[in-house]
Amino acid sequence: MILTSALLSSLWLCAQAHAAASFSPSPHRVPSTIDRLEPFRPLAKPGDPRKGTKNLRLAIMGAPGSGKGTQSKRIAIDFGVKHISSGDLLREYARTDAEVAGYIARGELVPFPIVMKVMKDRLSKPDVQASGFILDGFPRRLEDAIALLEILGELGTPLDAVVRLEVPEEELRRRVLGRGREDDTEEVFRNRMRVYREQTEPVFSYLQGKVNFLTPDVTVPDPDAAYRNVKAALDAYLAAR
Ligand code: AMP
Repeated sequence: MILTSALLSSLWLCAQAHAAASFSPSPHRVPSTIDRLEPFRPLAKPGDPRKGTKNLRLAIMGAPGSGKGTQSKRIAIDFGVKHISSGDLLREYARTDAEVAGYIARGELVPFPIVMKVMKDRLSKPDVQASGFILDGFPRRLEDAIALLEILGELGTPLDAVVRLEVPEEELRRRVLGRGREDDTEEVFRNRMRVYREQTEPVFSYLQGKVNFLTPDVTVPDPDAAYRNVKAALDAYLAAR
């Protein structure tokens, strides 16, 4: 009798435990990348802390090989702004993330939440807020551009201008294949050009009428001559501002 009631009560306990287990929340939801991201922190307090200085908030845009990296590093020195290259930041990130390394190696765009994370981290640094910046490689697709304008708009610190570099495709191929970076093969170049046409070119139509565009002549093969034109365009913009 005692044995039977002990058996019954242990059976009852088992049934309770089973019922509890079947009502527990499903453990199968895998957190997405966006779950791991912090909310976007403001780049600067509303208002423009740069009054009286010539600090600039710029983006440079152009196809692979158009000279974004070379030209923006020189702009950063001459105009005292921080050079922020999404490609450099993502290559750094890829050192500990094989998935991101794979996107870069194939010439595909890295998923938006990861790009936003690295850009947010860099843009929210005090040095960037104090001096202004030139974004190199970002925005690269519509959602980058929408997010960027939204954030800067909320802060009341809009982008001053986009420097657009236009170079014929044959010249781009010649420059890229002569560069020797790991992702500078013919196949990856073709893929990056396709991504540029499909994803980046629509960004120009979106930004048209919303930001100033500077279009210096950078078709000259000599990077110094190209830079003289870039600098002249920025000087003229600043003089008119
Ligand atoms: P870049 O140094 O600008 O030529 O970029 C090198 C690679 O980094 C690109 O081919 C993409 O795989 C990745 N990348 C750079 N910027 C972005 C971005 N804004 N969005 C997505 N992927 C990017």
